[in-house]
Amino acid sequence: MPKMPKRFAKEPLIEFNPKLPKLSENESKVLKLLVEAAKLIVPIYKLQENQKPLEGIKKAAKKNPAILSPYTVIEEQNGKLVAIPYHVKYADLLKPIAEKLREAAKITENKEFGKALKIQAKVLLDGTYEQASAAWLKMEPYILDISIGPLHHYDDRLFFSKASYHAWVGVIDREGTDRLLNYKAVTLSVRRKTLSPKERIEPKKMKVKVLDVVIFSGIMARTKFVGLNLPIDTNFVEKYGADVTLFNQSNDLRFMEQVLPTFNQIFSKDFKQGFSEEDLRRGYLRYTALHELAHSYLYYKNAAKNLEDLFLCIYELAATILGLRLAGSLLLKDRITDKQLQSMIVAYTSRCIYLMKKGGNGRFMMKYVLGSTIFINFMLESGALRWIDNQIISNFTKIFVSLHDLSNILESLLIQGTRKDAESFINKYASDLS
Ligand SMILES: [Zn+2]
Repeated sequence: MPKMPKRFAKEPLIEFNPKLPKLSENESKVLKLLVEAAKLIVPIYKLQENQKPLEGIKKAAKKNPAILSPYTVIEEQNGKLVAIPYHVKYADLLKPIAEKLREAAKITENKEFGKALKIQAKVLLDGTYEQASAAWLKMEPYILDISIGPLHHYDDRLFFSKASYHAWVGVIDREGTDRLLNYKAVTLSVRRKTLSPKERIEPKKMKVKVLDVVIFSGIMARTKFVGLNLPIDTNFVEKYGADVTLFNQSNDLRFMEQVLPTFNQIFSKDFKQGFSEEDLRRGYLRYTALHELAHSYLYYKNAAKNLEDLFLCIYELAATILGLRLAGSLLLKDRITDKQLQSMIVAYTSRCIYLMKKGGNGRFMMKYVLGSTIFINFMLESGALRWIDNQIISNFTKIFVSLHDLSNILESLLIQGTRKDAESFINKYASDLS
């Protein structure tokens, strides 16, 4: 059993205690500095969390587009709204972070890693974020991994689409990474065989890695992402590529807190005997892996614009459903077993029911709650899942057929749907959640 992580009641900080491979003395020293840098993200993220939304932003943005930038803070000055770049606003708190990164850059024996750290330190202080992402994407994999700075993701808890400060530091899990590379090779070749509509963007390249996480800081400690596919900007992905990262420790954490207890509640005793805890823990990580890979096969040029506020709900669900379908390709190639495929579906079903019961924590999780509701109702409608006496009965063959139908609907919404199309689809399957 993994050691429990150290959590700090209200602080956006989680220190995991992973069992790490043997590191050289130099690597250990560098790691220590990276962890120190990551901790310094906490006060910045707390300032962001406490930011109050302001009135009149949309109007002001028409005159001043900097207001919409993910990397600005909006403040009222003399009755007018002004946009202050992050690196200016948080300069005092960022300087010591850049210092730590430079110190690590100086001592590391990996030149490329040192170079990327130096660029990262500079970028924190001057706001040229694209340079850092490009440098990290170009780098050959190294045993240590860090991501630090504003993360432009989907944190709707900060109003608008503002980036949130985050850091993670981890050590590459070689075995897990090899497995993920293997999944990537199979799924990519399957995906390339299907006719791709011309609206689809092909990432320049796709890096994948699995990490043993040492620390999560800022938004990462709040969301506890199990996987991420970055960056989200499709222009950037086309130019430099995308980076898929999986986090072993947040997988275990979410699994123990959410998936396993729900699994124990919703399935019958006989059914449960077919799955060990380890099957399900791995099933949860596997479907997340395929979800993140599937994101890379679902970059459609106009989807975000056409579906507006409903885009994320459709896009996130589409990635999970396509991911589970791609798992079918792994099965055909004997890369996973029947049982492993079933464990993925059972883990996902449990997570869906957990989210539907819990309702997510506020707006941030809403798109996942909606997605979960759609999945469960779609499966109930087709008869792939049935509720009997407060327990779920699942028919895996029917689930697989239904997944096919569901992913076709979702993908056509991404390719050519309007907001209205997405709304009527969501209302049909998640109406009880209004
Ligand atoms: Zn996703």
